[in-house]
Amino acid sequence: MFSEKLILEMNHQIKHEMYSAYLYLSMASHFEVKNLSGFAHWMKHQAEEELEHAMKFYEYLNSRGAKVNLEVIEQPPLEFGKPVEVFEMVLEHEKSVTARINLLYGIAVEDKDYASQSFLNWFVDEQVEEEESASQILETLNMIGEQGNALFMLDRSLAERD
Ligand code: MG
Repeated sequence: MFSEKLILEMNHQIKHEMYSAYLYLSMASHFEVKNLSGFAHWMKHQAEEELEHAMKFYEYLNSRGAKVNLEVIEQPPLEFGKPVEVFEMVLEHEKSVTARINLLYGIAVEDKDYASQSFLNWFVDEQVEEEESASQILETLNMIGEQGNALFMLDRSLAERD
């Protein structure tokens, strides 16, 4: 059974994934104007992935015969702090997304909705990766501290994400 409760929460999830894309695009622009183009590249790549996540929920809802209800996407912050503060925010945000995925999974388990559990498994794994990559960059930034050269090197390496 595909419950109304899960349909509602999956519709909310489309908005959350779209908001994630908005947030990362705003962060990308912040880095762009700070001349940290590798960080900006990483964020734009991240934003594209978030749009793909939103589309996975969109397609899944349609494939189960549920209509998609597109909700208002709130405006992301415009001002950000140092790179380390930005990545603290990324990690916190990804943890909140993990909590959302767990909530959806919990409903699917309650409903004995095995198709949805199978669909959500991909997101469970994806969130482990998302938190891991945000933590790794955050740890590196913490080690770097105020060293400009090391930040420049990290920017170079983030530019290589594809
Ligand atoms: Mg996502």
